[in-house]
Amino acid sequence: MGSLTQHPAYVALIGHLKEAATLGTTNAVLGWDEQTYLPPGGAEHRAEQTALLAGMYHQRMTDPQLGEWLATLEEQLPPDASEHDVAVWVNVRETRRRYDRATRTPRALVEELSRVATMAQQVWVAARRASDFSLFLPWLEKMVTLKREQAQAQQTDEHATLYDVLLDEYEPGMRAADVQRVFEPLREELTRLLGEITASGRRPRREVLQREYPVARQRELAIRVAEWIGFDFERGRLDESPHPFCTSLGPHDCRLTTRYDPHYFNSAFFGTLHEAGHGLYEQGLPPDAFGTPMGETVSLGIHESQSRMWENFVGRSRGFWRYCFPRLQEAFPEVLDDVSEDEFHFAVNDVQPSFIRVEADEVTYNLHIMLRFELEQEIIAGELKPADVPEEWNRRFERDFGLRPPDDAQGCLQDVHWSAGLIGYFPTYALGNMYAAQFYRAADRDLGELQGLFGRGDFTPLRRWLNEKIHRHGMRFRAAELVRVVCGEPLDHRPLIDHLRRKLAPLYGLQAVTD
Ligand code: ZN
Repeated sequence: MGSLTQHPAYVALIGHLKEAATLGTTNAVLGWDEQTYLPPGGAEHRAEQTALLAGMYHQRMTDPQLGEWLATLEEQLPPDASEHDVAVWVNVRETRRRYDRATRTPRALVEELSRVATMAQQVWVAARRASDFSLFLPWLEKMVTLKREQAQAQQTDEHATLYDVLLDEYEPGMRAADVQRVFEPLREELTRLLGEITASGRRPRREVLQREYPVARQRELAIRVAEWIGFDFERGRLDESPHPFCTSLGPHDCRLTTRYDPHYFNSAFFGTLHEAGHGLYEQGLPPDAFGTPMGETVSLGIHESQSRMWENFVGRSRGFWRYCFPRLQEAFPEVLDDVSEDEFHFAVNDVQPSFIRVEADEVTYNLHIMLRFELEQEIIAGELKPADVPEEWNRRFERDFGLRPPDDAQGCLQDVHWSAGLIGYFPTYALGNMYAAQFYRAADRDLGELQGLFGRGDFTPLRRWLNEKIHRHGMRFRAAELVRVVCGEPLDHRPLIDHLRRKLAPLYGLQAVTD
């Protein structure tokens, strides 16, 4: 059988998708501007602009013609198309998935979800500021009802739970039970590791990160670091925003943002490495396939694996600091005169239980995620009432961290996700950490000693490896399959634990390997 790439239905489908992607990226330009430079007075008209474009995009993605082209192509696809006509097979598979999700959701529900999300986020800001959960509760209840309705509408497989349907939006093909299978042993190992670290009594000189770091110097350093790891500034930019993010405005235009704190080194430095990691993924996608699934990223979890790779596996490694620390001392003369390379490396790997997820270290971060994963599954299943969330949050937080949040602002009100309707999103962060550990181990095996390369400032081999093994495939493989293809093994929590133990053991004086 020949390829279907010249089939009129396929040509029409691709043209339609590319046009929709042009609309989508036009909206992304407006979104980027809104979060960086838009003056407050422009907000109202901007909301109208983005709503109009979002409506046009939605219309194209639910166009009955799209359904007809898909049906025609599905009939024509030979059974071995997944091997012999890969691009067509993947583009049809993913477009079908999106088309079904979009057309199964009633328009009234889409609009109501969008309206409630906008309102709920505003109320959430006020509730968090006042640390008053009762303000937010009616909006959380509304949101949960709507998300359950959405999941019911989109459910096509009777074996999938409502939560599975929500998770599938962010991590296609993944089920809550798959996540649970790796989270359980991960939690056990992390808790044990955290206990050993706490018992060791060793602590880094954390104050070295909280000295005076002039913003102008930090800005220069952020650009240099993004360049070291290969972010292409001919095809991207780094700007500032209160909440750092990465967004793609087209096949050759990737925007990163970071935020500078003159009294805290980590914020801009690791924030930039994180977002630049996302950016390298976007810049590594095949530009010719732009606008089609073959030119898109696999899932939120795989996206997060790329940011964590550069932030933690590279940026918090011993080899990286061998190269970076002398340059840091030059960039901030006198600030770090009394600090050694080892001390600085220990400081950026400080592990300590704390209340806020986004400030958490590499060990405790995943425990924050598992707590949210537990709660949101029970909420969607109807086993946990939204009104009982604060009490349950605090009880389980104490179980996992040995601390009780002093108020809801530092507990169940800290994250924007639930107010924005992003339920089923949290587990992708911890999946990203596990995927990153597995990819890092495979890259280290393929490329030899990565730490030696980092010590010489050579980050190109790793970036090329990620391009070759992950980025260039677009959505060809689902996350679970990609891990199997790249690493030769299924999703596994152990590489992450090995990575943490190997790094933290010499710092905290622990055993490197247990049993
Ligand atoms: Zn991220």
